[in-house]
Amino acid sequence: MQGIWILGDQLNAAHPALQALERDHGPQEARRRCRLLLIESTSVLAWRRYHRQKLVLVWTAMRHFAAELREAGWLVDQREASSFGDALTAWIAEHGIRALAVMEPAERPFRQAIERLELPIPLQWHPSNAFLWSREAFSAWAAPYKQLRMELFYREGRRRFGVLMDPAADPPGSQPLGGQWNYDHDNRKAPPRGLSGPPPLRFEPDAVTRAVITKVEELAQAMEAAGDAGLPGQSQPFAWAVTRAQALAVLEHFIASRLDGFGPYQDAMVSGQPTLWHALLSPYLNLGLLHPLEVIRRLEQAGLEQGTPLASLEGVIRQILGWREYTHGLYWWFGPDYPQRNHFGAVRPLPGWLEQLGGSGMACLDTVLGELAITGYAHHIQRLMVLANYGLIAGLDPQAFTAWFHRMFIDGFDWVMQTNVIGMGLFADGGLLASKPYAASGNYINRMSTYCKGCRYNPKQRSGADACPFNALYWDFLARNREGLGRNPRMGLVLKQLEKIPAPELVAIRSTAASHRPTEPLR
Ligand SMILES: Cc1cc2nc3c(=O)[nH]c(=O)nc-3n(C[C@H](O)[C@H](O)[C@H](O)COP(=O)(O)OP(=O)(O)OC[C@H]3O[C@@H](n4cnc5c(N)ncnc54)[C@H](O)[C@@H]3O)c2cc1C
Ligand code: SF4
Repeated sequence: MQGIWILGDQLNAAHPALQALERDHGPQEARRRCRLLLIESTSVLAWRRYHRQKLVLVWTAMRHFAAELREAGWLVDQREASSFGDALTAWIAEHGIRALAVMEPAERPFRQAIERLELPIPLQWHPSNAFLWSREAFSAWAAPYKQLRMELFYREGRRRFGVLMDPAADPPGSQPLGGQWNYDHDNRKAPPRGLSGPPPLRFEPDAVTRAVITKVEELAQAMEAAGDAGLPGQSQPFAWAVTRAQALAVLEHFIASRLDGFGPYQDAMVSGQPTLWHALLSPYLNLGLLHPLEVIRRLEQAGLEQGTPLASLEGVIRQILGWREYTHGLYWWFGPDYPQRNHFGAVRPLPGWLEQLGGSGMACLDTVLGELAITGYAHHIQRLMVLANYGLIAGLDPQAFTAWFHRMFIDGFDWVMQTNVIGMGLFADGGLLASKPYAASGNYINRMSTYCKGCRYNPKQRSGADACPFNALYWDFLARNREGLGRNPRMGLVLKQLEKIPAPELVAIRSTAASHRPTEPLR
């Protein structure tokens, strides 16, 4: 009997091992000669104490996917176990499995963990079909460049996959639709008073999901009873899609209610509006329930049909065809040492309120953390300009902060985490991904959000007890790293502003910053 092990982020009906079997033996024979296995292992909690919403989503999506495969006639086994290796070994013996097929995991540590299992039967790796760009294709694109840039990669993706290209250009398809590749500058509007986005599509948990919620709550209680910290976040209300059909409904709901408005307020942050016009598609793309190419094609078709402003349509397609593929490609291109990068030598430990998901006393952070506690989600600018920005300017340890992101986010996986947190968020890679650090003072947050209105700190002040900590930390960050940052031409302007701050004021700013930085170095 042939075996196929389907991992929790490979919930893809077009799984390459299933397709290969059907191709070789025909649909009926393929189903007769093969058993499929999905394992819910609590050993993942020994590596990372995940947010409860994330555990619920992954496990319930796996259970629903297994049921769908069964309905499609496959022999499917599900195991709840405390170790992947034990569950696999027992299953192999029980069913006389002679060879095990696995699709390449999207992340390096899991591939290594599988290799360490030392299974008694041969392992057949199938190349991943979860992304548009294979690792080989990405490497071939990247190799000639001295300095990689997302914009060039994105343009090549538009050409290669024929997305939003002008059919009337000469030669056809060589130029971008609308004459411009990028409409980013149209998409940075500050939120006007009372801005509110369309409500997201929510799903009532069914019996399968309710059973997983109970399991996660019992696990959390058992951990706490054993003197452990338990699991972060809350498991209820749980409203995420858990099947491919529901994920497709989220895509259609996005197209109908938010695609046209996606662009203008992409960078806005509004209290009480955690999702605005964002797509809420990352959990489903990352679990394999949706394929990025089908999403891109559907968005393009629907957007052109319904006359979506090009700035909005191009904006969302750039996120998926550009940033998502780019961060995945870079993850493999940069190699296994990338996660250890620490360009600024940042060693401060994470403040306790990050683990508690609230209690910082800063309205911006507490709002984002409060929303994160309920859903496991924050939108891009909240992640980049509030959370990661704080970590960057406060000098938090990049590896500890990356691990925190990985555990806390509904869509967090190693491949997407490394480049987004180490690279984009913390500039710990020294500029391999971003051309300058995304460091910002409270001024930026005050302009792009409504958070400061309800804050005990003053966004206009940069020293003293009432000063916005982001202001003090921002100037302190620039002063601390003045020499290194001076070598970056894009930092020239802000470093000139730093020079203009009178020495006594800079001392006061830095002393205010010191009162907000976690004190004990991590290592
Ligand atoms: C510090 C930090 C941490 C992040 N952590 C994650 C993570 O754990 N998982 C994750 O999928 N994304 C992560 N991102 C990228 C991005 O913030 C999320 O993909 C996005 O917020 C998901 O919400 P959405 O589906 O509503 O996205 P939208 O804003 O509506 O964007 C549409 C889609 O584009 C893709 N996308 C957009 N930006 C990126 C990006 N920078 N990298 C990869 N894909 C992108 C996502 O698939 C997303 O669903 C992170 C970004 C930063 C700066
Ligand atoms: S004043 Fe500063 S700390 Fe308070 S919400 Fe604004 S940016 Fe955040």
